[in-house]
Amino acid sequence: MAEFKESKGYCQTCKKQVLIRRKGTHHLLHLILTLLTGGLWAIVWVLCAIPIDGWRCAQCGSKARQLADTRK
Ligand SMILES: [Zn+2]
Repeated sequence: MAEFKESKGYCQTCKKQVLIRRKGTHHLLHLILTLLTGGLWAIVWVLCAIPIDGWRCAQCGSKARQLADTRK
Protein backbone atom coordinates (compact mmCIF):
# COMPACT_ATOMS: atom_id res chain seq x y z
CA MET A 1 0.00 0.00 0.00
CA ALA A 2 1.66 3.17 -1.11
CA GLU A 3 0.65 6.66 -1.94
CA PHE A 4 2.71 9.04 -4.01
CA LYS A 5 4.04 12.43 -3.11
CA GLU A 6 4.51 14.84 -5.97
CA SER A 7 6.84 17.77 -6.38
CA LYS A 8 8.66 19.84 -8.96
CA GLY A 9 12.05 18.65 -10.07
CA TYR A 10 14.62 18.61 -12.82
CA CYS A 11 15.12 15.47 -14.86
CA GLN A 12 18.56 14.87 -16.40
CA THR A 13 17.08 12.51 -18.97
CA CYS A 14 14.24 14.77 -20.15
CA LYS A 15 16.49 17.82 -19.69
CA LYS A 16 13.65 19.93 -18.36
CA GLN A 17 11.54 20.66 -15.32
CA VAL A 18 9.16 17.83 -14.68
CA LEU A 19 6.69 16.53 -12.16
CA ILE A 20 8.51 14.14 -9.83
CA ARG A 21 7.06 11.45 -7.61
CA ARG A 22 8.15 9.60 -4.53
CA LYS A 23 6.52 6.84 -2.57
CA GLY A 24 4.84 8.14 0.52
CA THR A 25 4.13 6.31 3.76
CA HIS A 26 0.73 5.66 5.29
CA HIS A 27 1.64 6.56 8.84
CA LEU A 28 -1.87 6.00 10.23
CA LEU A 29 -1.98 2.49 8.77
CA HIS A 30 1.44 1.70 10.23
CA LEU A 31 0.40 3.07 13.62
CA ILE A 32 -2.61 0.74 13.69
CA LEU A 33 -0.50 -2.26 12.64
CA THR A 34 2.13 -1.41 15.25
CA LEU A 35 -0.52 -1.40 17.96
CA LEU A 36 -2.04 -4.67 16.67
CA THR A 37 1.31 -6.47 16.59
CA GLY A 38 2.41 -5.23 20.00
CA GLY A 39 5.16 -3.03 18.55
CA LEU A 40 6.69 -5.54 16.13
CA TRP A 41 5.37 -3.68 13.10
CA ALA A 42 7.46 -0.64 14.07
CA ILE A 43 10.41 -2.31 12.30
CA VAL A 44 8.47 -2.43 9.02
CA TRP A 45 7.27 1.13 9.59
CA VAL A 46 10.84 2.42 9.91
CA LEU A 47 11.90 0.56 6.75
CA CYS A 48 8.93 1.97 4.82
CA ALA A 49 9.63 5.51 6.01
CA ILE A 50 13.12 5.52 4.49
CA PRO A 51 12.94 6.93 0.96
CA ILE A 52 15.06 4.24 -0.69
CA ASP A 53 14.73 5.21 -4.32
CA GLY A 54 14.19 8.93 -3.88
CA TRP A 55 12.46 11.17 -6.41
CA ARG A 56 11.61 9.87 -9.84
CA CYS A 57 10.62 11.68 -13.01
CA ALA A 58 6.89 11.20 -13.65
CA GLN A 59 7.51 11.10 -17.41
CA CYS A 60 10.45 8.73 -17.91
CA GLY A 61 10.97 7.18 -14.48
CA SER A 62 14.60 8.26 -14.15
CA LYS A 63 16.03 9.58 -10.95
CA ALA A 64 15.40 13.29 -10.68
CA ARG A 65 16.41 15.94 -8.24
CA GLN A 66 13.95 18.08 -6.40
CA LEU A 67 13.96 21.80 -6.99
CA ALA A 68 13.73 24.13 -4.05
CA ASP A 69 10.20 25.41 -3.71
CA THR A 70 10.45 29.09 -4.45
CA ARG A 71 6.77 29.86 -3.90
CA LYS A 72 6.10 32.02 -0.90
ZN1 LIG B 1 12.46 12.35 -17.23
